[in-house]
Amino acid sequence: MDCRENAKRVCWGYYVISSSMFETFYPGNYVDSAYEIPYEKLYERGYRGIIFDVDNTLVPHGAPADKQAIELFERLRAIGFSTCILSNNKEPRVSPFADKVGSPYIFKGGKPSRKGYERAMEQMNTDRATTFFVGDQLFTDVWGANRTGLYSILVKPINPKEEIQIVLKRYLEAVVLRTGERRVGEKGRSPWVPCHYKKKKI
Ligand SMILES: [Mg+2]
Repeated sequence: MDCRENAKRVCWGYYVISSSMFETFYPGNYVDSAYEIPYEKLYERGYRGIIFDVDNTLVPHGAPADKQAIELFERLRAIGFSTCILSNNKEPRVSPFADKVGSPYIFKGGKPSRKGYERAMEQMNTDRATTFFVGDQLFTDVWGANRTGLYSILVKPINPKEEIQIVLKRYLEAVVLRTGERRVGEKGRSPWVPCHYKKKKI
């Protein structure tokens, strides 16, 4: 066997091992922004509840609810969705935001623990089959949603200027996403929007 053949086998082995290792972190789908998700289509598919992360998902980290966020929640209510904001942040951060957009909320949600997601579904009176999650971080937001059995949608963080510990996490996220780029859209993971994995970097 020549060298090239050996190298190919090693690469394939690495791909198979790493992709099964990282599978738990892969989002059901990945879009640029929470504001471009086709919510009407998801409602038609039977979804009735949405759990949202806040910081860098709906607004920049620590920012108050803006017009775009308020209008999004109005639109979601008009469609017929129940919503719940699930944040690991403290109540003084989460409560004013949730009040402004008119949504129930859970603060100190402990993501990626399942508990917060389950409490959110209780509040919305929905279940795993009718709820999906939208967030910007793989190792908290998406992992927690996947562990709970929810359809997860990863969005690009709104503000690229982040604290150093989050920047480091983004590098790790990029490694996992690169490994998973071929997997999104497989196994009926409903690519209702074109998959951007191969074009976009986090
Ligand atoms: Mg976030």
